[in-house]
Amino acid sequence: MEIKITLTDKPHAKPDESALGFGKFFTDHMFLMDYTEELGWHDARIVPFANLELHPAATVLHYGAEVFEGLKAYRTPNGKVQMFRPIENIRRMNRSAERLCLPEIDEDLAMQILDTFVSLEQDWVPSAPGTSLYLRPFLFGNDPFLGLHTINHSTYVLIASPVGSYYKDGINPVRIMIETEDVRAVRGGTGYAKCGGNYGASNRAGKKAEEKGYSQVLWLDGVERKYIEEVGAMNVMFMIDDEIVTPALTGSILPGITRMSCIELLRKQGYRVSERQISVDELWTALAEGRLKEAWGCGTAAVVSPIGELAYKDQIYTINDGKIGAVTQKLYDTLTGIQWGKCEDTESWTHPVPAKN
Ligand SMILES: *Cc1c(COP(=O)(O)O)cnc(C)c1O
Repeated sequence: MEIKITLTDKPHAKPDESALGFGKFFTDHMFLMDYTEELGWHDARIVPFANLELHPAATVLHYGAEVFEGLKAYRTPNGKVQMFRPIENIRRMNRSAERLCLPEIDEDLAMQILDTFVSLEQDWVPSAPGTSLYLRPFLFGNDPFLGLHTINHSTYVLIASPVGSYYKDGINPVRIMIETEDVRAVRGGTGYAKCGGNYGASNRAGKKAEEKGYSQVLWLDGVERKYIEEVGAMNVMFMIDDEIVTPALTGSILPGITRMSCIELLRKQGYRVSERQISVDELWTALAEGRLKEAWGCGTAAVVSPIGELAYKDQIYTINDGKIGAVTQKLYDTLTGIQWGKCEDTESWTHPVPAKN
């Protein structure tokens, strides 16, 4: 498909790379494309970054028809730019879209859009250690009336934000609170879809955890509140004795691309990795008996985030003396090494971004 490009005549100065933070700055352009049943996807265009114009009755504003993705473009030591497993984000976005009855995007077209957009904005990919260009594709229902009905008009948008290192002062283990009241998702719901609505459901518990000084919530299953699901915006892994356990994908958990990559790398390195149910009771027993050696979250933003403390009801446990464990550290080094092009990509996971033409 032809992508029409309208360049800005007011390019912005790039922000200071030591003060990027997350999602505060945006590049000079954005990508937009519309869908209607009659025309399919059409009017693919890159335009100067600006506010979106929406009808006040637009479906997304009332009925939550929205899915999104999150991936990064990395600057390698030789100055080139690459993405990490972008095809997996495209496939997941289509699975999310299917769940919300939003139109899917052909994989080749979605890849062409990513390549064209990131190539155009590649000067915005920062180069300080740990920094990257965060890419946020999102897709939403955009019909201009309030009746509940099949979505006809949808819009796909891609924006990009240069982001700082998640670990400004080294990798500090995080404190996590197990949530016992609110649930994030149930089987049959939208837990496996990356959609804004899941975050809406998570807000209250997240706020409560923050007020108590915890960085994120660890969710339990929505039916029995007994089995571990995932952390805020990360999947979770536990090393119990010599087994690495991560909750199985039963429909209510987001299938993370970092999770999948961790599992593949760990198995290759000879670790025993089990995708299975794990209850809080099992976790607590392992903690009490000193068999829970390491725990970490994994997701695109932090890559791998060691968990130093877990709270459940009135009990608080420290894991590995609140320090990052050896397996967590090695996993972090291997994954970040591949993503930033500092070590060999033995898995062919990286995708070079075409040079600017
Ligand atoms: C995006 C996300 C993750 C992590 O997925 P990655 O593909 O590894 O970035 C985990 N949980 C939730 C709820 C998410 O939205």
